[in-house]
Amino acid sequence: MDNVSDMSILSEKPNNTGAKRGAALRLCALLTALIFALLPLSGCGGKAQTATLTAMDTVMTLTVYGKRELLNGCEERILDLEKKLSVTDKTSELSALNANGSAKLSDDTAELIRRALALCAETDGALDITIYPVVRAWGFTAGEYRVPSDAELAALLELVDYGKAELEGNECRLPGGTLIDLGAVAKGYTADVLAAYLRENGVKSAILNLGGNVYALGSRPDGKPWRVGIADPFGEDYAAVVSVTDKAVVTSGGYQRFFEQDGVTYQHIIDPATGHPVDNGLASVTIIGDEGLVCDALSTALFVMGLDRASEFWRAHGGFDAVFIDADGGIYITEGLEACLSLTGSGNADIIRR
Ligand code: AMP
Ligand code: MG
Repeated sequence: MDNVSDMSILSEKPNNTGAKRGAALRLCALLTALIFALLPLSGCGGKAQTATLTAMDTVMTLTVYGKRELLNGCEERILDLEKKLSVTDKTSELSALNANGSAKLSDDTAELIRRALALCAETDGALDITIYPVVRAWGFTAGEYRVPSDAELAALLELVDYGKAELEGNECRLPGGTLIDLGAVAKGYTADVLAAYLRENGVKSAILNLGGNVYALGSRPDGKPWRVGIADPFGEDYAAVVSVTDKAVVTSGGYQRFFEQDGVTYQHIIDPATGHPVDNGLASVTIIGDEGLVCDALSTALFVMGLDRASEFWRAHGGFDAVFIDADGGIYITEGLEACLSLTGSGNADIIRR
């Protein structure tokens, strides 16, 4: 097992519930300090520029080896995308689409919805961006948590069907009552947009941490791969470290947002087949691949699928690697990670093979 003391960044737990935001900010400040502390030790030639901001309901930390202005450009782009894609901001472009049932969308929003709908189909509806009526009924977007009745959920599920959303060019139409939530894909898309912007501006080395969505651009300035920590769902630490170059590392987990009522824990990822929070024995799913958007979509979808279906999906589709952590702390990794993942605990990971 690798020594993780030279790790360049942790994929911290977003802790992005309202109640936990203060703790997340403190953790982020700590991580920022850690990054600053570690980068000079790694023998980096360039100068690290770091920015921390709260956007898209999470804390983001961007570290870029390049001009300071590029960080300002990244921040502007994040806020621009948040203004377009937020489902909670009543003045966003997405909210206007949801309120009116049709809209001529910006290129960003149209492109994200177009690609997300394709991923909904590819995952056979485990990802369904029209899940919003159900997510809202459980109170996950507003933080006003409640347990809807079975009758209410059955009625709301009638509205959930990604196949009903129509997109022609930038014109989108939703049938009555259908509402889109891009929460499962927006940060991954944002990471891709930022990485493209930085590459266009000559950046060869950056690490973008959008709260559970990490994009590792290039390698570290010393030529070594970036080392990204995968959060331990049961503690404040990390369960594994993956060494990557030009890859997105995206985690979905029940622990990221949840509430408890009458001794039952309800978490924020919904199974579109039932309208209930996923409860299939998985604690988190991490996807490692080339594109942030695809990894973000798949981390949510494979969490819904559960370990067996998700393993089959990986065998059938490939093109990415995955780390599954189950409710008992068991860790399962796809075979492509054997050479680049190290566990921080004493156990072994089970390898999922083709
Ligand atoms: P993520 O953290 O990327 O897994 O996204 C989870 C968020 O996506 C939730 O907080 C909801 O807003 C939304 N969501 C929940 N379940 C689904 C689902 N099955 N398909 C699409 N979006 C979902
Ligand atoms: Mg996701």
